[in-house]
Formats: sequence, C-alpha cells, structure tokens
Amino acid sequence: MSQRAVVTGGAGFLGSHLCERLLAEGYQVVCLDNFLTGRPANVEHLLAEPGFRLLRADLCDYVHVPGPVDAVLHFASPASPVDYLRLPIQTLKVGSVGTLHALGLALDKGARFLLASTSETYGDPQVHPQPESYWGHVNPVGPRGVYDEAKRFAEALTMAYRRSHGLDTRIVRIFNTFGARMRPDDGRAIPTFIRQALAGDPLTVAGDGSQTRSVCYVDDLVEGVVRMLRSQHAGPINLGNPHELSVLELARWIIDLAGSRSGVAFVSRPEDDPSVRRPDTRLAQEVLGWEPQVPIEDGLKRTIAWFRESVSTLPVGRARPSASSTGSAGPG
Ligand code: NAD
Repeated sequence: MSQRAVVTGGAGFLGSHLCERLLAEGYQVVCLDNFLTGRPANVEHLLAEPGFRLLRADLCDYVHVPGPVDAVLHFASPASPVDYLRLPIQTLKVGSVGTLHALGLALDKGARFLLASTSETYGDPQVHPQPESYWGHVNPVGPRGVYDEAKRFAEALTMAYRRSHGLDTRIVRIFNTFGARMRPDDGRAIPTFIRQALAGDPLTVAGDGSQTRSVCYVDDLVEGVVRMLRSQHAGPINLGNPHELSVLELARWIIDLAGSRSGVAFVSRPEDDPSVRRPDTRLAQEVLGWEPQVPIEDGLKRTIAWFRESVSTLPVGRARPSASSTGSAGPG
C-alpha cells in the first residue's frame, strides 16, 4: 500500500513542488490549502493524478482528513515579508492555531509530522553562519516578529507534542529558496528583481545592497525535505545553500542573466532586515548526506525562463509591494 501524505499549504510555492515530488515518489497526496497566498493554478497540473486530492480548508478552523495518513508536512503560512506584513494576524494564527491543528491531525492518525520552519527563527543573527544550536536574535515587537515568533512558537509546540505525546516529529529550518511559481509581486528579492529586469525597470535594492543572503534552488530544498522526512533525526536541521552573496551582487547577476538593460535603484531598508544570512549545513551533510546540487546560476536561469513564460498570466496586485519592501528581505 502506498503511503499517504497531507501537505498543508500545498498550493503555495514550496508546497506545490513538494506535492509533485511526493507523487513522483509514489505517495498519495492530500493538498490542504485556503489559497491565502497560494493559488489553485500551482497544483492544477496534478489534479488529473489519481493519487492527488486538493482540499480547500483553513487550517485555523477544525480540520478533518478522512482515511489513513502516514505523514503531515506542515507548510501553511504566509512566508514573504510583503505577505506576512499585510497578514500579521493570519500569520500568527496559522503558526499557532494552525500548527496545533496540524499536530492534532498527525497525532490522531499516528502519522509522522514535519514542520517547515525558517531561518527567520535566527532573526538578525549575531552568530555567522547560523548553526542549529544558535538560539537567535529576534525582536518580538518589531513588524517581522509576527512571522519569526509564529515559527518559534510552532517549533516549541512541535517539541511539546514530541515530549508529551511521543509524536514522531521533524523540524526543518528553511533558508531563502527560489524557483518557479513564486509570485512576481510577493516582495521577495529574486521574483522582484526578475520581474523588474524583464520589464526593463530599475531593480530596487534595499539600503546599499551589502546585506547578504544565501539562496537555494527549490529542487535542492525539496530533496532535503524528503530526506529529512525519511530520516530518524528530529531536527531542527538547516536546509539552505551556504553560498552567500550580497543583495547587490544578486541584482547585478539577474540583470546579466536576463539580458536586461535595467539599472539599480537604492531604496530604504525595512525595519529589522537581517544583515547577514547563511546556513551552517554541516548537520544536514552529516545526517542526511545532503548538500545543494544546483549551481545558483542554473537555478536563476531556470527561474528567469519560467517567469518569462508565465508572468503575463499571473495575477499581480494582490499584494503590491511598496518601494521600501522590494528586493530587500529575500524569501521568508
Ligand atoms: P507560500 O505563501 O507560497 O505558501 C504558503 C501556503 O500556505 C499558501 O498556499 C497559502 O495559501 C497557505 N496557507 C496560509 N495560511 C493557511 C491556512 N490558514 N490554512 C491553509 N493554508 C494556508 O510560501 P512558501 O514560500 O511556499 O512557504 C511555504 C512554507 O515554507 C512556509 O511555512 C514558510 O514559512 C516556509 N519557508 C519558506 C521559505 C522560502 O524561501 N520560500 C523559507 C523559509 C521557510
């Protein structure tokens, strides 16, 4: 009998790639999503697959999934700064109440639970690169606190279920990931820069662009998640590409790869924008034998090609970014 997985937030950027991968691995997949920041179109191509089911539901409401479930992969949450700053209460709710419901579902079904946490749990880090043992430097009352603290709470709740109920849990801390199906208006650095480069508009770089990010191509990230799901390690474990580059370098690279004539426009930096970000991935290498395989240049080329084909058909404007929030914080 094939295994059955529930992916919360499965119609989002990462969730849709994960649903695809799990189906390819022979899982039956229930994609649960309320389309708050994701889109049915992201999984439309999977609807014809016999093992795939799309369930429209808000994880903060009572959630019922009929039938057996072997794994719950909890990816539901607004993830880009533009989204979580526009949806602060929904972000806190899905990180808290939504996580409680996802854990309850796993407990009820006797399933393994995997939490998609984030590098943002490290906040604006004072340790660099960030190992899993670092407790972070987060401002709970700043605007970004809604996301960072929701994820920190979700990690604590996951560990409480593990310790109190013996639930079989996994926590992955995802660093900035990019690829096809990101929304051009989600405010994260890469889709914003690609949209601007393809339109011939100036790329809006926050501050002087010297703040760093480490970006991982989506296929590599999904590989890490699947390895973690199958491993016996509870985590938290960092998944990300340790190759660090400045936001300005990233902008210039995208202009070049897109063959664009765009220039760069410097805009103000958002509050609590992290100065540096780079995963220490030694644990993932050691216990999962995992490290990113796709060179960033190849990943960027594939993503630019996808945006070229798709952007005219994508809805832009649901969360139109302001100048100060573009090209700054990178993926959540
Ligand atoms: P996304 O916004 O594309 O996907 C999130 C999905 O969750 C969307 O489809 C949205 O509709 C759904 N959702 C939100 N609230 C919900 C609710 N209450 N009930 C049901 N569905 C709900 O974002 P993403 O980039 O794909 O991120 C997915 C997960 O990975 C998030 O938990 C995010 O925190 C984590 N993560 C992502 C990155 C990244 O670089 N993309 C980095 C770190 C962590």
